[in-house]
Amino acid sequence: MKDETKCLHAGYHPKNAEPRVVPIVQSTTYVYDSTDDVAAVFDDPTKSLIYSRFANPTVMAVEEKIAELEGGVGAMCTSSGQAASLLSILNLCKAGDSFISSHHIYGGTYNLFAFTLKKLGIECIFVNDDATDEELEAAIKPNTKCVFGETIANPALTVYDIERFANFAHKHGIPLIIDNTFATPVLCKPIEFGADIVVHSTTKYMDGHAVQGGGVIVDSGKFDWTNGNFPELTEPDESYHGISYTGTYGKLAYILKARMQLMRDFGMYPAAHSAFLLNLGLETLSVRMKQYCENALKVAKFLKDNENIEEVIYPGLETDKSYKLAQKYLKGASGVISFVIKGGRSQAVKFMDALELASNEVHVADIRTCVLHPASATHRQLTDEQLVAAGINGGMVRFSVGLENVDDIIEDIKKGLAAL
Ligand SMILES: *Cc1c(COP(=O)(O)O)cnc(C)c1O
Repeated sequence: MKDETKCLHAGYHPKNAEPRVVPIVQSTTYVYDSTDDVAAVFDDPTKSLIYSRFANPTVMAVEEKIAELEGGVGAMCTSSGQAASLLSILNLCKAGDSFISSHHIYGGTYNLFAFTLKKLGIECIFVNDDATDEELEAAIKPNTKCVFGETIANPALTVYDIERFANFAHKHGIPLIIDNTFATPVLCKPIEFGADIVVHSTTKYMDGHAVQGGGVIVDSGKFDWTNGNFPELTEPDESYHGISYTGTYGKLAYILKARMQLMRDFGMYPAAHSAFLLNLGLETLSVRMKQYCENALKVAKFLKDNENIEEVIYPGLETDKSYKLAQKYLKGASGVISFVIKGGRSQAVKFMDALELASNEVHVADIRTCVLHPASATHRQLTDEQLVAAGINGGMVRFSVGLENVDDIIEDIKKGLAAL
């Protein structure tokens, strides 16, 4: 099936007289005929459902749909994108291990990697996307367990050279994890370029309507965990009656370990109702992504020619520094644009406050156009000098183009520009 069809049909196949739409199974628990039946589920949790902290039929329908869209063998939903990133790393790293991450990642992920995981004894080594081969090699240590990057970075909007980093990771016997939130599987399927694990904040385009927060981890099933670097996946797990994940589950080892061990212990599983809402968003994902890209490209071209705009960052523009990578990896550059207004912070604020259609909010990738001034919001604690050091210009605006008619969006931007 093609993406448009998977968005509508994957993950749920009703039988005779069953509901057409995936039902919300609002039950924390499941009944069994006998004690032996319960015991059998504990012996092999893939056979049926144990408990809603890590399994629910509504959520699992969505997991299957996303796994099929990404071309993976299995997926596990989480209650936020942050939870997905955290578990994707904890499933491989324990105290004393390290991993490598791109510098160009979401701010929340940066905090998680640079500060919180450090407190847990896991070291993140940040490398530049354009690091030389020598610089990359220098970041590898005997305890390095994975490499992490974002397809389209939020908010830098750089495109990650997935194939290059996949080859680098595989050369060292470790997997590549890709945060594919901004691209979604409609614009990029990282597994086709060698990624082993894909994570998302489903809060963004996948949901698309700003109604649920969530995340997901997808397993390609392609990585060989038996290469000696991952005893936690191959050796008996004493917390799960001595199971070996690779021995028992083969290609599903990573994603089943995440569910049976980490989700069991941390409990960041989404509610059935949230999964139902996410599924509604996923049904139109393919159609929506095409329109976001079309609208955003028009907006980016309009901005590029304006005298009040210093710079437009959008990987779909031929002049953008990520354009070549975008041509290779993306079917479209998503709806998010960053641009810098001449005159810095005060001018950006004037522009933002004159907008009427675009809403000022801490969100991105919504169905409605929304806009954020990083210097006043996500990076508010920083001085102008620190902003520059962090690569954020006081005049920078992050503009998330929605699905309104693009002429109306451009009219609104004109109002902002007129205020300057
Ligand atoms: C928002 C975001 C996250 C975090 O997701 P939440 O659902 O807000 O926890 C992770 N990665 C990227 C690229 C994001 O944009």
